[in-house]
Amino acid sequence: MTTSAAPPALFLSDLHLSPDRPEAVAAFRAFCAGPARAASAVYILGDLFDWWVGDDQMRDPFVAAAVRDLRGISDAGVPLLIGHGNRDFLIGERFARATGATILPDLVVADLAGTRTLLCHGDELCTDDAEYQAYRTRMRDPATQARLLRLPYAVRQLIAWWLRRKSRAQKARKAETIMDVTPAAVADAFRTHGVTRMIHGHTHRPATHHTDVDGAPRTRHVMADWHDRGHYLAVDADGVHVHDIAG
Ligand code: MN
Repeated sequence: MTTSAAPPALFLSDLHLSPDRPEAVAAFRAFCAGPARAASAVYILGDLFDWWVGDDQMRDPFVAAAVRDLRGISDAGVPLLIGHGNRDFLIGERFARATGATILPDLVVADLAGTRTLLCHGDELCTDDAEYQAYRTRMRDPATQARLLRLPYAVRQLIAWWLRRKSRAQKARKAETIMDVTPAAVADAFRTHGVTRMIHGHTHRPATHHTDVDGAPRTRHVMADWHDRGHYLAVDADGVHVHDIAG
């Protein structure tokens, strides 16, 4: 008999949960009730929700159900770690307490079965998009966020709707390459954090990229967004494995 290896850590991002995406919601429920509960940890690296206007959004029955699904993971004793995306950067401490999650910093290095791995949403790597980076800097400013959160809930919902509409229009206008990560920013991130592996989402361009930085081989795993089904990565001592899940 061999002793069984530690269960994998699971990674997902860009679920963009909203009542408009029933397939993604069903896959999310299946994920929370199934594979998540047998994981060594679950990392959700941004854009769990399609929009987030403040933790008082938990009053929404749709969100309250998602909070219960997440709570089921942490109640099973599995560490649940959630990072901010560009859509849900206002997720805060109340949400963390309700779900039993830990909120991750924007860039974090995790030791995964002995391999130090840089984790982030991915939008911080799209540095060629100066317009977006200016918006991001503004929105990530605590003073801006405090000002936003003081607005009435209905007004914040309206702003979120307007921002989503604007983002769709910009996406249609911008060049494809601008919306992908900037290779120099990726190389910098590998260098600065001294890692050989990176996992992120955001671009909705799932792939495994092998690159060389300063003569050392590095691997960058880009997670898929959830649309008609769910996607997650399982990481253990054998490496990174891609999984699909349907509702
Ligand atoms: Mn994103």
